[in-house]
Amino acid sequence: MNDCLFCKIINGEIPSKKIYEDETVYVFEDIAPAAPIHYLLIPKEHISGASEITAENSAVIAHIFEVIAKLAKDLDLKDGFRVVTNCGPDAGQTVFHLHYHLIAGRKLDIKMA
Ligand code: AMP
Ligand code: ZN
Repeated sequence: MNDCLFCKIINGEIPSKKIYEDETVYVFEDIAPAAPIHYLLIPKEHISGASEITAENSAVIAHIFEVIAKLAKDLDLKDGFRVVTNCGPDAGQTVFHLHYHLIAGRKLDIKMA
């Protein structure tokens, strides 16, 4: 996708603070962190949001959750963490390349909406 901010981050056109990378997943710091740890996990393949996950592309989603578990161990997040994905304007999605927020490092509000 030519005009996608996160595709540009993956290919290095726009700088980011990389936390982790492998063949299918890229992880970097959110530019406006909501907590001491706030990372974004994205598939390298452009998927516009959670509504576009299919049987053909869902293997990367399982892998993203494996990476989340690995990061949680590496970062010793034994007090907990939160994983969030926003899909569509009502949910506040602002970048239309699927991403999972990994948020941790403080006590988080129990708020669903
Ligand atoms: P969402 O609102 O769920 O679509 O999340 C988009 C996230 O991307 C927000 O938390 C932004 O702070 C973050 N973001 C936007 N631009 C950048 C950037 N250039 N580098 C890192 N994070 C960004
Ligand atoms: Zn993209």
